[in-house]
Amino acid sequence: QAEKEPLVIIGTGLAGYNLAREFRKLDQSTPLLLITGDDGTAYSKPLLSASLAHGKTPQQLASASAEEMARELNAEILVHTFVTGIDAAAKTLALAAENGSHSAELRYGKLVLATGAGCRALPAIDGDGLARLFRVNSLGDYHRFRTALVGRKRVLLLGAGLIGSEFANDLIQAGFAVDMVDPLDWPLATLLPEAAGRDIQRTLESHGVRFHGNTRVARLDRCGGGIRAQLDSGEHIEADIALAALGLQANTELAEMAGLAVNRGVVVNRQLQSSNADIFALGDCAEVDGHQLYFVAPLVACARALAKTLSGEPTSVHYGTIPVAVKTTLRPTTVCPPRRGAEGSWHIDSSTSGVQAEFRDTDGRLLGFALTGSAIAARDKLTTECVPLMD
Ligand code: FAD
Repeated sequence: QAEKEPLVIIGTGLAGYNLAREFRKLDQSTPLLLITGDDGTAYSKPLLSASLAHGKTPQQLASASAEEMARELNAEILVHTFVTGIDAAAKTLALAAENGSHSAELRYGKLVLATGAGCRALPAIDGDGLARLFRVNSLGDYHRFRTALVGRKRVLLLGAGLIGSEFANDLIQAGFAVDMVDPLDWPLATLLPEAAGRDIQRTLESHGVRFHGNTRVARLDRCGGGIRAQLDSGEHIEADIALAALGLQANTELAEMAGLAVNRGVVVNRQLQSSNADIFALGDCAEVDGHQLYFVAPLVACARALAKTLSGEPTSVHYGTIPVAVKTTLRPTTVCPPRRGAEGSWHIDSSTSGVQAEFRDTDGRLLGFALTGSAIAARDKLTTECVPLMD
């Protein structure tokens, strides 16, 4: 009997590995191949912005090596290997080794894109200080950043979104001096209404973080052993090292080259199927029935549904309400953002112990919420009441 064609997964982040695990629970015989440009270490990415204060090394964040994962999953894992092209008609992939030493072609039966999201391109910043600007979106990045922090004291953070605010919370508790710059008025401004964002800002400031809102870094120059930033506002900040947390962008280049439908992410339906019947996508690279969410909970739901589909039982994913714990541990925060474009307004109940913000439509239906401090006690009640993301 001819061997079954392999299920090939591109990416060994939480999406790729979660799917592989779920798939193996249902199908032990189809050959499974995972391909990754990195070293295939399994780790929980959310820990990257909450581990400096605990002194965690990259090794301590790793839960398993690629070799251990290959054994656990009864799979082949190609590490330090980039997929450079997909021929959807021939069902083949073009591969290239990281060091350019060789390239190869490989055939797939079904293909899953779990290629994640990369850091958004930097805005134009003048000056010669960019070599001291770091970004953390992988275990390797965390290693580089942590190493560069040795013997340093002052960190300039570009971006006060979810990841930037978590790093501010982590760095300040790790003993660094932190300046945080964001073009918007308050931290987490795209996710939180002003009262909740200001509440987090006050907490971070009370621990020593200096927040510079409504301005941008226009220049970054080397200055002694460190850097000097010039802000739009005219202000100058000196620091030893800078970290940019300016948002993510889905890795969709492969899908685009293969001629698949791509919007903000790789366009897939609720069965995680792309515009090509044999190619699927999940995780940060995917836009699932119009929803693009850079969070773990949705990709876990997608992995379960897709594993069933790939093992012969077509299954749709259903997103309910997805509250996310923001790891600003100095001020515990939970946010359940309303779906993109939802119409309604924030209703705020604010006190010194916390902020409860509810996003409701004109009929009073709860479409999203944000909770800080003691208000996070309302999380379960509001999660039950909130209108699910998918009908
Ligand atoms: P990734 O982890 O980015 O994996 C992508 C994989 O694809 C990698 O293995 C890469 O090597 C591979 N790849 C890409 N292109 C190619 C190619 N051409 N060839 C071969 N391999 C390729 N979410 C939460 O829910 N809660 C949180 O608290 C939270 N905190 C976060 C903190 C930080 C600092 C960050 C960066 C993210 C955080 N997130 C959080 C988001 C969450 O971590 C992501 O949604 C999730 O990890 C995405 O997983 P992924 O597998 O889709 O992508």
